[in-house]
Amino acid sequence: MVLRTQKLADRESPLMSTTAQIIESIETIIVDLPLVREQRFAAKGARSQSIVYIFVKTRDGIEGVGESATPSGPWWGGEAPETIKLMIDIYLTPLLLGEDAFNIDALMAKMDGKVFGNNFAKAGLEMALLDIQGKALNQPVYNLLGGKVRDSLPMSWPLATGDPKAEIEEAEGNIADKLHNIFKLKMGFLDPKTDVDRACTVARALRDHASIRADVNERWDEETTSWAVPRMIDAGLALIEQPMPRWNLEAAARLTAAINIPHLLDESVCTEQDMLRVAKTNAGNLVSLKIMKSGGIRRTKLIADMALAAGIPLYMGTFLEPSYGAGANMQLCATLRDLPYGGELAGGLLVAEDICETSANYQDFELHLQEGVGMAMKIDPDKLRAFRRDREYSIHAFSK
Ligand code: MN
Repeated sequence: MVLRTQKLADRESPLMSTTAQIIESIETIIVDLPLVREQRFAAKGARSQSIVYIFVKTRDGIEGVGESATPSGPWWGGEAPETIKLMIDIYLTPLLLGEDAFNIDALMAKMDGKVFGNNFAKAGLEMALLDIQGKALNQPVYNLLGGKVRDSLPMSWPLATGDPKAEIEEAEGNIADKLHNIFKLKMGFLDPKTDVDRACTVARALRDHASIRADVNERWDEETTSWAVPRMIDAGLALIEQPMPRWNLEAAARLTAAINIPHLLDESVCTEQDMLRVAKTNAGNLVSLKIMKSGGIRRTKLIADMALAAGIPLYMGTFLEPSYGAGANMQLCATLRDLPYGGELAGGLLVAEDICETSANYQDFELHLQEGVGMAMKIDPDKLRAFRRDREYSIHAFSK
């Protein structure tokens, strides 16, 4: 036995020199970007998107960039830009300084051991660490995740003003421009009757030349859901997302069994344990992946693998990350096999101003993977100066 081990060792090449990237500094900056139009969610309306950018520098001079985005504040996941910045600055940064950015498993475990939850903050840090790894190895991040299986993502556009006439016009404009032919109605901010009438009007107008989906963000109970969803299906709805509260997997399973369109779970699947429970209970038959809610790209990839193992296909969700985050999401998305309904990385089009040097590439109804090293996206320092919340002066008059 000893002899055999010795022989194997003789055949192996000598260990390569280590590529340690020791973390020297971490800086967080909150940026406020105006949106092209008001975006209504079940809980609130938004006219701007606030994002935390995270700059992690190593002793060797490599800078990794991460981005933590919430859907306009804490209503979805409990974290807000201000809490993300605070958790990183005060509690998470000291855990990472002096550590090797390549030891990502150990660093994530260290953060989890010292700070409960705060997945959005941890996801932004992990994004920066992966960016460092890609830059140090001169590889795109998707090559660190198993390699790519796709170069683009069919893109859904949110219809989220609440006015069906305006929403139909907006959708027809998008179709004419060959930007989007998949639309997701954001629901739950109107009373259910008005909201369902609105969704049916939009679905009937567009059903023959577009795919219409709806996301209720947990705002309905089971009774409301059980009369509303069949009506919307009759009008041409192609997919229903999370109508009921995230904890109610039993009701979710009853809905999944009762309808013949996909029941997409978003809020119900944040952790690996959530994914296990959904697989066991047949609560849904499509899973929305989001880097932020699951605490990073690698845990999201794990959840994706678990879903596929259970025979549940994937959907690429978003918190309206602008182009840096959309690019980072595409690095993961490029490695995902089974995305029958595409995704919605639309943040790069919803912001009126972007802070990346190259904007996310949307055309022919799809978002295209940007090729490059690391996350393949670069922050423009002048734009960062112009839109950072703590800027000394504004070069932009916000009209809204
Ligand atoms: Mn959702």
